Amino acid sequence: MNKYLKGALEVIYPARCVLCGAVLPLKRENTQKNRTCLCPPCASDFPGIPAEECPHCGGKTETAGFCEFCCKPYAFSAAFALFPYEKVQKGIHLFKYDGVRSFGEGFGQLMAEYLLEYHEELLAETDLLLSVPLHPKKEKRRGFNQTNLLCQEISKETGLLFSADALTRKRDTVPQSTLTPEERKENLKDVFAVAAEVRGKRILLVDDIFTTGTTCNECAKVLYRAGAKEVKVFCLAAAGLKTD
Ligand SMILES: [Zn+2]
Ligand SMILES: [Zn+2]
Repeated sequence: MNKYLKGALEVIYPARCVLCGAVLPLKRENTQKNRTCLCPPCASDFPGIPAEECPHCGGKTETAGFCEFCCKPYAFSAAFALFPYEKVQKGIHLFKYDGVRSFGEGFGQLMAEYLLEYHEELLAETDLLLSVPLHPKKEKRRGFNQTNLLCQEISKETGLLFSADALTRKRDTVPQSTLTPEERKENLKDVFAVAAEVRGKRILLVDDIFTTGTTCNECAKVLYRAGAKEVKVFCLAAAGLKTD
């Protein structure tokens, strides 16, 4: 878009902080790299989870990401998240249901920045970026797959290869949030399929919110079955164990 047109549009629809919704100043200094989608207080509080804290249980960890205890029940070997769920609730809601695309771009850029700044090794050890698939019907209704938007930004900023259709969803499912943990497992049984060559690949699987982890776990299982070498999970936000 032409930069003057973009400027004019911003006067009418001012950009808002993706976390707290505060109206952002028109002239945004790019002093904090990609954090231009955040207001100054939110930008200085980034990432929202300290490196030595497990995003899921809040316990102390040796390395950034989920602690050993929280990873244990799952097929994937590691998991990372940028924010606690409460912090992104407002922004994610706008992003998911009101179709605010710029929020997707903002969140994706923040995820990319987090990888570039704190996970150089993880970046170097990843062959392929995949997103948790939405059912096509749902995607059509919503107009876009929010997780794909995150992946597109991450790919653009980090150079990681992203495949939007390597993982597919075979049928529509009831929203996971309405179900008990047992029902969640049943609901997702045989739902995902791998539609590309992933043999020997080290995969970073992206989702927006990590709650019980059932969805990511099911995706990881089918990827391993298809020959993936390693599957790690990267989410925008994680809900704590207590909020499940
Ligand atoms: Zn803010
Ligand atoms: Zn933990």
